[in-house]
Amino acid sequence: MHTGVPHRRVAVYGMGGTIAMAGAGGVVPALSVSQLIDAVPGLGGTGIDIEVNDFRRLPGASLGFADLTALAAEIEKRLEAGDVDGAVVTQGTDTIEETSYLLDLFHTAPQPVIVTGAMRNPTLAGADGPANVLAAVQTAAHPDARNHGVLVVLGDEIHAARHVRKTHATSCSTFQSPNAGPLGHLVEGVPKLLNRLPAARFTLDLAAVNSHPRVGLVTVTFGDDGAFLRDMSERADGLVVAAFGVGHVPEGFVPILSEIAARIPVVLASRTGSGPGLSSTY
Ligand code: ASP
Repeated sequence: MHTGVPHRRVAVYGMGGTIAMAGAGGVVPALSVSQLIDAVPGLGGTGIDIEVNDFRRLPGASLGFADLTALAAEIEKRLEAGDVDGAVVTQGTDTIEETSYLLDLFHTAPQPVIVTGAMRNPTLAGADGPANVLAAVQTAAHPDARNHGVLVVLGDEIHAARHVRKTHATSCSTFQSPNAGPLGHLVEGVPKLLNRLPAARFTLDLAAVNSHPRVGLVTVTFGDDGAFLRDMSERADGLVVAAFGVGHVPEGFVPILSEIAARIPVVLASRTGSGPGLSSTY
């Protein structure tokens, strides 16, 4: 019988993390995606069919490029089949800022891909996993979330993968987008997108990726003489330098950076974690 309500379907991929932790004391990623889904009050009443895929069971810190490029290929292939409205990835929150951006770089299908996790494991009072899974599935199934690339949904906030960061070690409101703010929020189970991303998203051809350059991250510190910078540059294919403020470095860094930049790409960022680098203002 046609009820007039569109039939919706979401594929969920479990990667492990706190959201899937079980066992008292030393909790480990043990819950299957089916167990995660069964623990979500109200999901059955949404009319959204769920496909479950136990893809990995690792802490967020232990995920790597091979795991995520395999996941990206699996998701894009599933979305290309055309019979799912979106995808959800549940994983450890420690690396969501990296994994969601990597998936975004390879995400070319119009359907939403939503990444979520939990800050409180299922054995704790106020565990946030079930609410985050429900919000992620509701967003993945909604047509308004299409053509936005990969989104990160926790605490009923919707963030762009390219902007979001984990900003607090334990707070349930840890995911913030310091430079842009959230794209929107879930309101009574419906994603309300208030801000828009630039239409053209930078993406890469996943099939053309056959190596993973080793990129070093050096944070400049008070009294830094550049020794760590030199050491790191000998073993890296590229460097990100997290400099002071708007991009300042100690005077002695300049000849070292010039020598390194002649050999490998060097990107100057701010160790503040938000705001612009300046090129003509001290
Ligand atoms: N506490 C982290 C989490 O929220 C651990 C991890 O990233 O696996 O999932």
